[in-house]
Amino acid sequence: MKTDVILGRLQKVNAAGSDKWQACCPAHEDGSPSLSIKETAEGNILIKCWAGCSAQDICAAIGLELKDLFNESQKFKAEYKPRQIDIKKECDAVAQQYSKKISEFLNG
Ligand SMILES: [Zn+2]
Repeated sequence: MKTDVILGRLQKVNAAGSDKWQACCPAHEDGSPSLSIKETAEGNILIKCWAGCSAQDICAAIGLELKDLFNESQKFKAEYKPRQIDIKKECDAVAQQYSKKISEFLNG
């Protein structure tokens, strides 16, 4: 997933630095941009609503899944042989990595 695809689905997008943007959160009534978006060096997209919406809710509001933000989910797929794909396991792994990335994002 390219960042501009996601930015294209959001309102009032402003650049907030290199590979960082702010936009109105699609998951709640947001008059002023309270959603932060960041693209990491690995090509993952981190989103954080300061009003407290979950990344899953934000993705759902713009017709995406959490794993669409994750460049690295391609790697998870490659690690499983086709007949052994366990969607739940894959999603859990993505969600777990995602919360780790979010805390790095917030602390950095
Ligand atoms: Zn929100």
